[in-house]
Amino acid sequence: MSEICHTYSQQLMGTTVSLQLFVENLPAVSAVFQTIQALETRLTVNRNHSEVMSINHAAGSQPVVVSKLVFDLIRQAKQASLLPHSCFNFAIGPLVKLWKIGFNGHNVPPAEEIAQRLTLANPELIKLNEKNHTVFLTRTGMEIDLGAIAKGYIADITKLVLASYGIHQAIINCGGNVLTIGSSPLSSNQQWHIGLKRPFAAADSLLGILHVQNKSVVTSGIYERYFILNEKLYHHIIDPQSGYPLDNELQSVTIISDNSLTGDIYSTILYGLGVERGLKELEKHQYMGAIFVTKDKKIIIKSNQHFEFKSLADDYQICS
Ligand code: FAD
Ligand code: MG
Ligand code: MG
Repeated sequence: MSEICHTYSQQLMGTTVSLQLFVENLPAVSAVFQTIQALETRLTVNRNHSEVMSINHAAGSQPVVVSKLVFDLIRQAKQASLLPHSCFNFAIGPLVKLWKIGFNGHNVPPAEEIAQRLTLANPELIKLNEKNHTVFLTRTGMEIDLGAIAKGYIADITKLVLASYGIHQAIINCGGNVLTIGSSPLSSNQQWHIGLKRPFAAADSLLGILHVQNKSVVTSGIYERYFILNEKLYHHIIDPQSGYPLDNELQSVTIISDNSLTGDIYSTILYGLGVERGLKELEKHQYMGAIFVTKDKKIIIKSNQHFEFKSLADDYQICS
């Protein structure tokens, strides 16, 4: 195990993106970061201009032509939003912008304003034209938000970029979306060791270690972007039924899957379903595994043979 690990990091998409390689290949590194930067420029809703913002600016007035790449992601975001029992909703933008959770100016908005914006958070009102690649938000004030899916999409694309440079062993981490590529040169059984963070603790404090090979590991949780007011915690995953942060027994859900787009979609959906309904939903998706972490300190593991989990937390009860 004399492999040398080369780590590169950049601040992108409001988070730290890091890449680990086991060969020195600076052209590949710069291609990866340039690709992520270019995709951020197209997909962001945190700047005034982007392809997605051009759709949002035209809400209620006209369809907007977008690139095939952006259209493809939006098509998948709409599909995920229309799944039965899905809390995933890419039309959630008006509420994300109202609450501002994770950004300057976060607040608990007036109930009337939440109710008014809820009427705009309707994925059925987003019309896609497959032939022309147009997207039309049919009511003024509607906004697309791809925050729960875009990092997964981007991680999968970086895997293709690395492959085009002949790199088939790497880890890409887009702020909570970890994609392990190939087998690990660092361990004798070729498994990558990925840490599961302890909620509300320092970044290097772990609940346990996942052992995976060629898998995506994506976590959605309440402990990265939140604020506390009058002892109540408000986090960034908004319930499209109520307009308030989703309130259930969970601290986080981690999805282990082949691709990161699927992991990103389902970490949000299973978070919304909670443990019991989430486990039921998972039965239909044997191609994924999941880890649920609850507020009352249980770690519920459904591996579906996609990973092993080694606990480091004596204070949590492991259920599998
Ligand atoms: P996930 O659970 O995967 O998704 C939660 C995010 O999805 C929320 O933050 C919100 O954006 C959205 N969301 C909330 N409720 C729902 C729902 N019910 N259904 C669907 N989506 C929902 N952060 C910054 O601070 N500054 C930036 O400049 C910035 N730029 C970004 C640019 C891009 C292209 C992307 C993809 C993200 C950017 N972010 C930025 C981060 C972004 O705002 C989200 O916080 C982040 O994507 C959340 O990812 P997650 O994996 O933690 O959570
Ligand atoms: Mg997600
Ligand atoms: Mg995510």
